[in-house]
Amino acid sequence: MSAEILSVGTELLLGRVVNTDTTAIARVLSVLGIDMLRTEVVGDNDARLFETVRAALERSTLLITTGGLGPTGDDITKETVARAAGVPLEMHEPSLRTIEAHFKGRVMDENQKKQAMLPRGCTVFANHHGTAPGCAFTADTGCEVIMLPGPPSELVPMLEESVRPYLAGKSGAVIVTHDMHVYGQGEGHVAALIDDLMNGANPTVATYAKDGEMFVRVAAKAVDEKTADALCAPVMEEVRRRVGSEYIYAVDIETLEETVVRKLLARGMTIATAESCTGGLLAKRITDVAGASDVFEMGAVTYANRIKEQVLGVSAQTLEQYGAVSPQTAREMAEGIRKAAGSDIGIGITGIAGPGGGSAEKPVGLVYIAMSTAEKTVVCRKSTGSRVRSREWNRHTAASCALDLVRRELDGLPLPEGVVN
Ligand code: ATP
Ligand code: MG
Repeated sequence: MSAEILSVGTELLLGRVVNTDTTAIARVLSVLGIDMLRTEVVGDNDARLFETVRAALERSTLLITTGGLGPTGDDITKETVARAAGVPLEMHEPSLRTIEAHFKGRVMDENQKKQAMLPRGCTVFANHHGTAPGCAFTADTGCEVIMLPGPPSELVPMLEESVRPYLAGKSGAVIVTHDMHVYGQGEGHVAALIDDLMNGANPTVATYAKDGEMFVRVAAKAVDEKTADALCAPVMEEVRRRVGSEYIYAVDIETLEETVVRKLLARGMTIATAESCTGGLLAKRITDVAGASDVFEMGAVTYANRIKEQVLGVSAQTLEQYGAVSPQTAREMAEGIRKAAGSDIGIGITGIAGPGGGSAEKPVGLVYIAMSTAEKTVVCRKSTGSRVRSREWNRHTAASCALDLVRRELDGLPLPEGVVN
């Protein structure tokens, strides 16, 4: 099946409403193994809608529309789509009765009744969260058409309750995807390493950048999940070999923090954090993960030098001699918080997030991240070089670097580049 999604609504064209309906439908189609070819948005305009629908009906085998099924004058989807598909609308009595019941005897104008006018012979999808039903029918071109209501509170349940099972019966295939999350290698570099694999048709291999990280998505289409998985496996193995398994921190786990929390839980180990320029972001990311309370002991945000001394035990001489942003201070922060918390691992982060506060010697984007364990303390230097990055970026990547240090430590992997001592 080759599918398109057409969202109808002027509010979408004006940027007033984010098109979440399309995303929700596309996800379902992808899992069902239905090839998505195109998504489009068109305003509440009969002529343009007609033209867009007609083109879709001629080139695709499944068209899903969203919006414009309601009672108001600008709700024209059904009338226009049915006309473009060469199928007449008829009063659907059971839907009319449902709508009447909804009004509980209150006066119902003709516009409300219009919602029960549906294409002849269609499959009706009941709307348990609103009044306008959805429906599926076949156009004169042979293209299958599904019309769904616009409000996500109505569309999403209808998608799950009715559309997914309806389409599952027709598709006969599944798509399995596996995301291989990489930290410490750029998207361009990884893409070059797996260039030839990215030309494959089944499985398909693609690279994506994400918040200073990247991931490789391997997706296979087959009659069932097991067969699709078997197609993915050798390609994933090859990706692993070429990229280097130490850089692949997880498969199908979304984040570094989740990876770290799971590994700490598995080993019964604990962590504490002392943060300056990241302002608690690392602690926040760790504690975003359910179950973090069993591994996270404490987080301190220590900006003032006085507090670094008093709370973490950073020596006045270190601060005086090397400054707050230095490998020496990061090291003492990590060691200090580990001792204060009595945890297995301590993290210290100090740097210049920007946009101000940089100097020639210590530019914006320079961050030192230290990890202390009972055996050793290591410090990683991160710098954006001549590139100017946002404050948010500098903070996020510094926290990511700390998480990468921890997961490498827990897995006994070599330390990453940039470790200064
Ligand atoms: P109603 O019966 O509420 O009129 P409808 O099926 O006619 O429903 P629309 O009138 O097109 O749908 O849209 C109603 C509301 O639903 C919009 O104002 C908007 O808030 C939301 N909506 C519509 N389309 C989308 C979309 N593609 N993604 C997210 N929200 C949407
Ligand atoms: Mg409407």
